[in-house]
Amino acid sequence: MTRIVIAGGGMSGLSLAAHLAVADHRHPVVVIDDGSRPLDAMTWASWSSRPGLLDAAASRWFDKIRVHVNGRTTVLRLGRYRYRVVRGADLAAVVRRYTDPLRHFTYERGHVDGLTDGGLIVDGRFLRARWVFDSVIGPEDEPPPDGELVFRGWRVASERAVFDPEIPTLFDFRTSQAHGASFVYVLPEDAHHALVEHTSFVPPGTPPDETAQKEALAEYLGEVAGAGHYEIDREEHAVLPLRAAQPTRQHDHVLTIGARGGLLKASTGFAYERVQRDSAAIAESMQRHGHPFDLPRAPARFRLFDGVLLDVVTREPTQLERAFGALFRYRTAEPALRFLDEETVVPQELQLFAGMPAATYLAAARQRLTR
Ligand SMILES: Cc1cc2nc3c(=O)[nH]c(=O)nc-3n(C[C@H](O)[C@H](O)[C@H](O)COP(=O)(O)OP(=O)(O)OC[C@H]3O[C@@H](n4cnc5c(N)ncnc54)[C@H](O)[C@@H]3O)c2cc1C
Repeated sequence: MTRIVIAGGGMSGLSLAAHLAVADHRHPVVVIDDGSRPLDAMTWASWSSRPGLLDAAASRWFDKIRVHVNGRTTVLRLGRYRYRVVRGADLAAVVRRYTDPLRHFTYERGHVDGLTDGGLIVDGRFLRARWVFDSVIGPEDEPPPDGELVFRGWRVASERAVFDPEIPTLFDFRTSQAHGASFVYVLPEDAHHALVEHTSFVPPGTPPDETAQKEALAEYLGEVAGAGHYEIDREEHAVLPLRAAQPTRQHDHVLTIGARGGLLKASTGFAYERVQRDSAAIAESMQRHGHPFDLPRAPARFRLFDGVLLDVVTREPTQLERAFGALFRYRTAEPALRFLDEETVVPQELQLFAGMPAATYLAAARQRLTR
């Protein structure tokens, strides 16, 4: 049986389906999703420095960001990067343009109960598969989280024209640090409408404080943004487990993809662009070798950096502003984004770290390495 099953038709499952449709025509592909996370409710933003197969899914592109850190607001050009916004329905529509013309690609509604020898269990029934790309079950030895990203976002309609339609705010630290290392993120649609999101890095297992999040959002909209009267059209909230360690993705005929596969960057909570690159690499491996396992790996030090940052900021929340301030202190955001994309070399990293308290980070790194 040569069937490929993609377990979960969310961001990573759909992205992989499109890349396989372009690269590999030997196997029938079935995407199975139980509908538990409706795509219409999802939007992903991310930065990117190169063209991608699914670029047509982006509804907005920005070439500048705003940051407010250490008491100063700065607008930064993105250099060779662009910041883009992809809505769930648009991603699905663009993916279907690639897969619908291929009769051997199908989409099925079903609940994946588990993975098993030679296939998987869907709605209680065994389904044989040569390869399973799993975004829903996850590896057996999933590493424990090093922290959590807790966020609550309001899509607001403000009476006053307070949002800059051309410039998203990647982080604004004018919010209380009492409930964890926190900032506010603003993704504008136009001068009156934006997603305003309160985001905190907290130790694993910290229960989200809904009241504090809502108070912080109201305070930001009132006192910082000066929104005046506003309506909340939609709310999103989530707790994302952040893992610095790489889970074992490969097991027999299974490759874990998406957030469960460790593609969520532990120091940012972003996964979209990493999933695009991973999908392209999987499809290329399939085409070249007939298996999906020839995947590039970033140097291990980047996972150490993520873990150390999480250790430091979950212990001492005010360090997050110092760290982001150091990374984004250049004329453009490019050095910071290149580092977060794990594409810097050691001398560049040493320069970026120069603005951070060395003793705090070295002690945290030492602790991590001797655990
Ligand atoms: C609210 C929110 C906002 C985010 N915003 C961003 C962002 O702006 N930028 C960014 O880079 N990252 C963002 N992330 C992080 C990350 O990119 C997303 O979580 C992303 O959707 C992960 O992709 P995935 O394919 O691993 O999981 P999902 O996209 O969640 O896909 C999993 C799919 O599997 C289905 N499913 C679940 N269980 C089963 C089962 N047992 N059987 C069958 N189907 C099942 C679900 O219906 C879903 O469609 C965000 C996360 C959340 C929660």
